[in-house]
Amino acid sequence: MDITHLTIDGDTPGIAWRLPVLHFTGSKPDAPKIYIQAALHAGELPGTALAHFLCERLRQAEAEGTVLSDIIVVPHANPIGAAQSHFGEMQGRFDLGTRTNFNRDFPLISARDRHLLLENLERYPAADRLKRQLIHMALGADLVIDLHCDDESLQYAYIDEAFWPEAADLAAALNMDAVLLSDGESSAFEEAVSFAWKYEVPGEKKAHLSGKLSVTVELRGTRDVYPEMAKRDAEGLWRFLAARGAVRDDHVSLPSFAGPAVPLDNVEMIRAPQAGTVLFLRNIGERVNEGDRLATIITAPGMPDGTIDVHAPQAGLIVTRVSDRLVRRRGDLMKVACDRPSTAARKPGTLED
Ligand SMILES: [Zn+2]
Repeated sequence: MDITHLTIDGDTPGIAWRLPVLHFTGSKPDAPKIYIQAALHAGELPGTALAHFLCERLRQAEAEGTVLSDIIVVPHANPIGAAQSHFGEMQGRFDLGTRTNFNRDFPLISARDRHLLLENLERYPAADRLKRQLIHMALGADLVIDLHCDDESLQYAYIDEAFWPEAADLAAALNMDAVLLSDGESSAFEEAVSFAWKYEVPGEKKAHLSGKLSVTVELRGTRDVYPEMAKRDAEGLWRFLAARGAVRDDHVSLPSFAGPAVPLDNVEMIRAPQAGTVLFLRNIGERVNEGDRLATIITAPGMPDGTIDVHAPQAGLIVTRVSDRLVRRRGDLMKVACDRPSTAARKPGTLED
């Protein structure tokens, strides 16, 4: 394992971040190149824990001579976000200076212009320099895995339809509970990588990207950071790497993915009709029927008629749930993966800002 560091100079004097990048060199030049990063949203640590144990496994493989692919791992991709704190609470999702989500505003370029990402870097603010260097590394790979997590959540992934169903092996290897098929319409890291490949020949969009993968994995919830869980997840990602010929492990055979894979349009974003104290009646992982009560919101505590109920608009699987119990009007309560498209209007792109 070789370690290099990206140095990101701060936007004010006296500050610089130093980001470790771990490299494993493969023995097979035509094996797919791998890029794995975690905690782009700096407080989302299940992926960092996974990466820790995966690197342990990869070092062992290196000693045994079974690493076939060049593999880059960035176990904690966002030192800028990790350093942000506001009144004692870590703020790892948005850049406090610009209010920009650390997983948006990645440059949408053609892969053939990859080299331009690092040109005149000094013209960009620190967060953009970080983004340009991360996506530059990713575009040097064939299989790109961006490890995130949700709030309270099952394990699921956002996978562009251009990679499906080929990517079902990743879902099977990690034993995901669901896959959300996205339409590639945002500037999130994973979608900017796909965009660069789709438009490798500018003006000629490729609908299917065989042999490539760029995916956002939501490794359950923010608090799901435990040693045994992270080891199992690392073992899962190892199985995927073996299945794709990035490492040699003759003991790996993957089952087919049995979970639901639904388009983003089929995700019901359950929102709070009014503000209040939410009492959840159903949990993640449960299947609900149309009309089931999902939660009661106490809108006027202590008053007669002080509650309202929230019902399931259609049958589906509860994939995520908010962890805050004080909810604002129109605040997200749950994501429910359903068989049919939601009738609620969705703007193209990501489900959340
Ligand atoms: Zn995230």
